Amino acid sequence: MTTGMSGSSALVLFSGGQDSTTCLAWALRRFDHVETVGFDYGQRHAAELAARPRILEALAGPNLGADHVLPLEILKAIGGSALTGDAKIEMGANGLPTTFVPGRNLLFLTAAAALGYRRGIRDLVGGMCETDYSGYPDCRDETLKAMTRALDLGLDTRFTLHTPLMWLDKAATWKLAEDIGGEDLINLILWSTVTCYNGGIATHAWGRGCGICPACQLRARGWRTYIGRTPLDPPWKQFPTYEAGSLGWRMGGGEDYWFRFWDWFLRGLTDEGRVAYMHANPEPSGWKGRYATMLDLLNTDSFT
Ligand code: ZN
Repeated sequence: MTTGMSGSSALVLFSGGQDSTTCLAWALRRFDHVETVGFDYGQRHAAELAARPRILEALAGPNLGADHVLPLEILKAIGGSALTGDAKIEMGANGLPTTFVPGRNLLFLTAAAALGYRRGIRDLVGGMCETDYSGYPDCRDETLKAMTRALDLGLDTRFTLHTPLMWLDKAATWKLAEDIGGEDLINLILWSTVTCYNGGIATHAWGRGCGICPACQLRARGWRTYIGRTPLDPPWKQFPTYEAGSLGWRMGGGEDYWFRFWDWFLRGLTDEGRVAYMHANPEPSGWKGRYATMLDLLNTDSFT
């Protein structure tokens, strides 16, 4: 459903998470005018909604238009999900995680289509994905195609639903973000998006979150696979004008990169891969001992 661009305006279902931020960047590359819609349904992870303005500001440009937030408290009123209530996050008797919110994507799409109808927008963009998602039945391509057809009939118009992430795993979603917006977009997604079910904000190499909930684990796994697939230049090649050890290695660009490099070098490479990398990328003078310092961490108890 990612082909057949039918208009120059799109409405992106934008929650403030990794997937919908990637979709927003994707849409900004393809449409002359892009609006966003988020839903406030009393989600436990309200940090996600709070992240939206920051991300919108960072992606602002001539083709980014209005943002809309629609209340959908009906989902909380219906209850029964770990995302809207106090239920524990685990596998339910129905074979679905308790994070499943019955009808959520169907309601989201209906509300987005109705808003699109009012705004004269017929292209909808959503981050729904079959690949990683514990079998949420409302993320299935077939469900979404049928829903789009129902909306076409019910509103007597023709919508196109774009789901650029439908067949991508989390690692491929990171790669898509890199292809669209390079290091800047990767850093924005890493540090500004929140996908944690508990709304955790502790810092990890893969971004912020509690590190324990299924969404954090999925994100961490995807990040590790992504960085494992993507060789990184050593920091001295990436930032040749910075000197080793200067100013916390230049808070911001350099520091972020160093953190990422460190994680990739230790977790994304095998032992043989590290040896080959060090051989191909010897430390220049002024950087001597950096590899050894990193390798020492592999032997500490706290390294996981
Ligand atoms: Zn979490």
